[in-house]
Parts: sequence; structure tokens; C-alpha cells
Amino acid sequence: MKDEQSEVSFIFPSFREDSRVESQPKRKVIMAKEVGFCFGVKRAINLTRQALAERNDVFILGDLVHNKRVTDELEAKGLRKVDTYADQKQGTMVIRAHGLPKARIQEARDRGLEVVDATCPIVLRAQEAAKTLESRGCQVVIVGDRNHAEIKGILGALEHPALVVDNVEELREAKASRKLMRKVGVIFQTTHALELCREIVNELLMMCKEIQIINTICRPVQNRQDDAVDLASKVELMIVVGSRTSANTMELAALCRHYNPNTIHVQNADELPVEAFTSYELIGIASGLSTPEDLVEAVKVKVLTADIEPAEAVTASE
Ligand code: SF4
Repeated sequence: MKDEQSEVSFIFPSFREDSRVESQPKRKVIMAKEVGFCFGVKRAINLTRQALAERNDVFILGDLVHNKRVTDELEAKGLRKVDTYADQKQGTMVIRAHGLPKARIQEARDRGLEVVDATCPIVLRAQEAAKTLESRGCQVVIVGDRNHAEIKGILGALEHPALVVDNVEELREAKASRKLMRKVGVIFQTTHALELCREIVNELLMMCKEIQIINTICRPVQNRQDDAVDLASKVELMIVVGSRTSANTMELAALCRHYNPNTIHVQNADELPVEAFTSYELIGIASGLSTPEDLVEAVKVKVLTADIEPAEAVTASE
């Protein structure tokens, strides 16, 4: 009988006796260490469910989480999605994990709306970090996407305008148009990849006289990225599961593709054609922070069962 475990340890010692490895006669699947929602997303979903259970008219600006199945479930329980709260005269407004500019939260309260603040504590810490740097007399430089809700929330927490850059080119443009000052304080979008942030900080070192940095990258994000990169560089095919509207999932897929060009990004098992994985023997699976665990599980099951006879599956699991 084939010794599956010793084969795994021969090829990849770090995965030896690892419960993340599952195999069938044709291939092995290695799951990332953590899949499913991060704690900030779980907390936001729980607070919203609680609000829906206790109150009558609950609404939210945009989607609570970049996952249609979850948003459908909450909408079925009564959550209303709105584009603006300008027309809302009563009810409870849920603030997403990404946060909202403080002036808008106050404005909602002033209009008599109840507020359930589900802003992730790590995002709140990033807002505080930006304020600290501003109070030290620094021009705040935020490495991130200026259109992302989290960045709008951070900008809204500051007294003065900050510079937002998402790549080295944008930073050079800011320098050329004299928008960059000599004393800067840098923070990062919580879901950004450390490598990208490092590139921008390296460039800043050549441009500014004084740089203060507060690392606001979310630790669960960084752990998942490190783990996914490690996995992607060891497998033949890497699959990243998550919504295409989720910034952290898109970034995770791009990062994995950098280390393994043979990376596929799918939103669910239905999007994964069987022919995409049948020629590979070792496959890694990772997911974004707003991807429900059962969607990832469904992808794993498809990879392990789609092209084998039930009898083979039984033999493999024995
Ligand atoms: S990714 Fe990090 S910062 Fe964002 S919601 Fe999750 S735990 Fe919070």
C-alpha cells in the first residue's frame, strides 16, 4: 500500500503530519492554515444579526461584507442596503467593519438615527495611529486605495488632508507636484501587503528628511498572506477563493500569482472548472478574509472528488 504520509514528508517536510493535507489517489490538497472570516468580519456580522433581532428598521451603507451569500442572508432578515442615509428619518444604521468618517457618524446621530458601530478595532487603531502622527506635526501619508471605505474613514478622522498613495508612481507624482512634505508620518491600509508598503517606504526614504511609521497592517491579514505565499511557492496549482469585489482577496490572489503564476482565483466551487485542476497532483487552497468557510470547503471537496469514482474516494479515505 502506498505510504501517503511519507510521500508528503519527502516532498515538503514542513507539511509532515499536517492535518491540512488531504489526499485522494490522483492528488493532494493543502489548505491554508486559516480560512473563513477574520474576527473583524465575524464581529460585524454578529453585531448586525443582533441589531436585526432586537430592532425594527436596520439599514447599512453598502455591503456589510464582500460576499453575496452573507448579504443575501442578512437582507432576508430585514437589513436594508442604502446608498445614502440622507433620506433616512429613523431607524438604526450599521457601520461596516471598514468604518466611516466620524463627521458622518455624528451627522447620523444628530439626525436622530441609532448607530451600531461595527468598525473593526484594528481599523479604529489605524485611525488613532493617523491622528497620533498628525499631532506630532507630520504630514500623514496613507499607503492605500483612496476609494476604499477604510481610507475614507481614516481621512475623516484627521484635522488636515492626508496624502494617499497606492504605488511608487503616485508617490513620485506627489513629490514632483510638491505635495509631499519633508516630515511625514506613514500608516498602511490594514489589508495591504507588506511588500508593497515596503517599496513605498523605501522610496520615501530617498525623498523625505524625517519619516515616522506606525505599522497598521492587520496581523491576521499578514499571517494569511505569509502563509499563502509559503503555500503558493510549494504547490503546482494555487487556488484562492473569495469575492472579486473583496480588496484583500484580490490582493491575496495577486500575491500568490507573483510566487506561483499558476494561481486561479474563483468566487466559489461552481466557478472552478474540473479541467483546471485535473492535471495537477499537489494543490494549495487559500481564501480572503470575507470568504465563508463553507465556500472554501466546497472548493476543496470538488478538487478531491470531482473526477474520481466513488469507490476510489472510499478507498482513499480508509
Ligand atoms: S481584515 Fe483585519 S482589520 Fe479588516 S476587518 Fe478583518 S481583522 Fe479587522
